[in-house]
Amino acid sequence: MKHQDLSDADPEVHKALENEMERQEKEGLEMIASENFVPRQVLQAQGSILTNKYCEGYPGKRYYAGCEHHDTIEDLARERACEIFGADHANIQPHSGSQANFAAYFSVLEAGDKVLGPVLAHGGHLTHGHGVNFSGDLFDFGTYPINKETEEFEKEDILEAAREHDPDLIVCGYSAYPREIDFEMFREVADEVDALLMCDIAHISGLVAAGEHESPFPECDIVTTTTHKSIRGARGGMILCKDKYAKDIDKAVFPYSQGGPLMHQLAAKAVCFNEAMKPEFEDYARQIKENAEALAKGLQDNGLKLVSGGTDNHLVLVDLRDEDITGKEAEAALEEVDIIVNKNMVPYDPESPRVTSGVRIGTPALTTRGMEEDELEEIGEMIAERVKNPGDGKLEEEINNRVHELLKEFPLYEDSEVEY
Ligand SMILES: *Cc1c(COP(=O)(O)O)cnc(C)c1O
Repeated sequence: MKHQDLSDADPEVHKALENEMERQEKEGLEMIASENFVPRQVLQAQGSILTNKYCEGYPGKRYYAGCEHHDTIEDLARERACEIFGADHANIQPHSGSQANFAAYFSVLEAGDKVLGPVLAHGGHLTHGHGVNFSGDLFDFGTYPINKETEEFEKEDILEAAREHDPDLIVCGYSAYPREIDFEMFREVADEVDALLMCDIAHISGLVAAGEHESPFPECDIVTTTTHKSIRGARGGMILCKDKYAKDIDKAVFPYSQGGPLMHQLAAKAVCFNEAMKPEFEDYARQIKENAEALAKGLQDNGLKLVSGGTDNHLVLVDLRDEDITGKEAEAALEEVDIIVNKNMVPYDPESPRVTSGVRIGTPALTTRGMEEDELEEIGEMIAERVKNPGDGKLEEEINNRVHELLKEFPLYEDSEVEY
């Protein structure tokens, strides 16, 4: 086998990779609420020789020889995850958030069982019962809505939906909900209808890890998450649970729904958890929230409406129903000035999911770049002006220039000798 530098071995892939580095570093303000930039140490673990090994099974109980160092790594990751989240047990093998949810459901449910999840257009994820997803196909999902008045999840609505559907499991945790999740309230509802409670903290796990969002334990029975959003690690998923469910969770991941774990990803997850236990991570998580508040101020002071009137976490959801622009058009207008966001349904949206009346804007990635309240408030103002005046060419140029000044002022990997 001939070892070569990627640039020599495969110039086409290498070129695309270089172009992507350039894009991430210099070409836009990354404000997609689910994205982030991982530190070099995570990239290093991910791009390592750990990818060479089959390790089906769990530490001490593998189906292959030669797994001792992999056991060390997986044990470290599991122990760190349990410590960070206050869980009895962690399974860090799920390849993604969706895989984590698949295994979590099948650990305690059988196909056809009843589950209650949020209305997808009110902040839920595809794996929370959508018809195009396995979840909607294999389980009998009912939904609970966001309250039309408060634009938050309220006990009365959830209890009513739960009494009507009589679920075996209730799912909370969202992709586009700007408010704190009230786990005690969900527990009360679950107890009332004798259901298990699962929370999918994919978006907020970085905040939870730092104590900047209430912990889902002890109220929840099972907690799933991604490891690449606000927690800023390798792409992947994880399941946390109480002791009682540990065996069933492990069986539902392997052998029920996955084969060999991606050990390089597991190592990168361990490294990410190590980062999440450092005091700097608490500062980062606190800053994410302060930045979201500053962003909200910039948007609202300049005339835009936010779903629920603000934010408690890392994102805002702009409600464009009173504006002359759809979510789709706003996303495109902002992309033209190199501000990268995504269109998103608002609760009770009259538009289709392809068009929408909202945009979702998050602060984790810019917080990682080092931006603080002044920058985020200014970006909020620029977003509001752009969305309100999409035809103004002079304004477009002004904003785009300022965006590129900010990108220069807050470099990403430039000075850190990252090998990518
Ligand atoms: C992102 C997300 C997921 C899915 O994660 P993937 O790794 O993309 O499969 C699941 N649940 C919620 C709430 C999410 O936001």
